[in-house]
Amino acid sequence: MDIIVQKFGGTSLSDEQSRRHVLRHILRENRAGRSVVVVVSAMGRRGEPYATDTLLDLVSQNGGTLPTRERDLLLSCGELISAATLCSLLNSEGLPSVVLTGGQAGIVTDDRYGAARIVKINTDSIVQHLTEGRIVVVTGFQGMTPEGEITTLGRGGSDTSATALGAALGAVVVDIYTDVDGILTADPRWVSNARHLPVVSYEEISNMAQNGAKVIHPRAVEVAMKAGVPIRVRSTFSDSEGTLVTRGESLRNGGVWTDRTVTGLAHVSGVTQLSVVDENGPADLQMRVFRTMAKNGISVDLINVMPTGVYYTVSKNDTPSAIQLLSELDFKPQVREGCAKVSVIGGGMNGEPGVMAVIVEALTNAGIRILQSADSNTTIWVLISEADLAPALEALHTAFGLHLS
Ligand code: ASP
Ligand code: MG
Repeated sequence: MDIIVQKFGGTSLSDEQSRRHVLRHILRENRAGRSVVVVVSAMGRRGEPYATDTLLDLVSQNGGTLPTRERDLLLSCGELISAATLCSLLNSEGLPSVVLTGGQAGIVTDDRYGAARIVKINTDSIVQHLTEGRIVVVTGFQGMTPEGEITTLGRGGSDTSATALGAALGAVVVDIYTDVDGILTADPRWVSNARHLPVVSYEEISNMAQNGAKVIHPRAVEVAMKAGVPIRVRSTFSDSEGTLVTRGESLRNGGVWTDRTVTGLAHVSGVTQLSVVDENGPADLQMRVFRTMAKNGISVDLINVMPTGVYYTVSKNDTPSAIQLLSELDFKPQVREGCAKVSVIGGGMNGEPGVMAVIVEALTNAGIRILQSADSNTTIWVLISEADLAPALEALHTAFGLHLS
């Protein structure tokens, strides 16, 4: 049995016309003789009647005092409505189908409501329905504890439902359908000649997703990578093949990485740089700063530790409390708000000399100052002023020839 998992996001399901496109993709795979498991998100976006954010707004009007268990019960309804609607469309087309909730589909989670982790998947029920010739429509974003409590996996969790099911079922591919034609070399709203990428590695897409590109949830990539299930990110509204996500080794062996050191750019704005530097400061300055941030639940990024002090970044939201905490420690931090973090990502840059040189040269020639940097074997991050973001992305995109195919 060739199993394919097809995941459709909220905008792909929000109206009749979109659902007709969804039907087209399901029909194509069904006619090709594949067993189809469909994973759905809640329909539409905030403001539309059954979207996840609309359900949340419903309770926040009452002061939002819903216990986390009951909040998950409420949230699970969005996906259920979506699944039932799709099921009725499939049945009206003569395609036998069945709806399974996360729990009914065998997705067992721990009991962290709102951020549950999948601990096990029992695929028996899905396989049984597939064997009997049904299309199985699974509500994304949810599971069930061993005690039978309904849980949700955290916002954007239906991507993870899809890849986890794909892994458990040994699917030939997991197709993530969205409203864009796959992955581009940069955000097209910022870089005019951003280009479509036919294939990327798990590490590359995971870096993109963690650094601001909203194409797929990073946790979903992690799950697929572990199992080695190929993912395709593609559009509901076209027939294009989208972007294939696969193992880095196959890109190396296929020669893709000999042709490119850098694959794409991602960025996040709303970043604040904090520097606590004091040549005559206490010996435990470094420890006091990071222990305090950790204790207060402030996530730190772009961390540079030096003998004289520390540089790091926090989100815009965490800025006021981070400053307050540092001053309570009697430190005088330098605060630079309005920064952006640009990620230069490429599985092929590992061990290649000269990548940082190209970055620094491109930004220097564009008159842009790098405020801080960090690197891993597949990504180099530079912090710049938000005001420099557009020219920086253009300059880096051109310098690495990302506009050329
Ligand atoms: N509906 C859920 C959310 O909006 C899950 C998802 O769409 O992936 O977060
Ligand atoms: Mg989503």
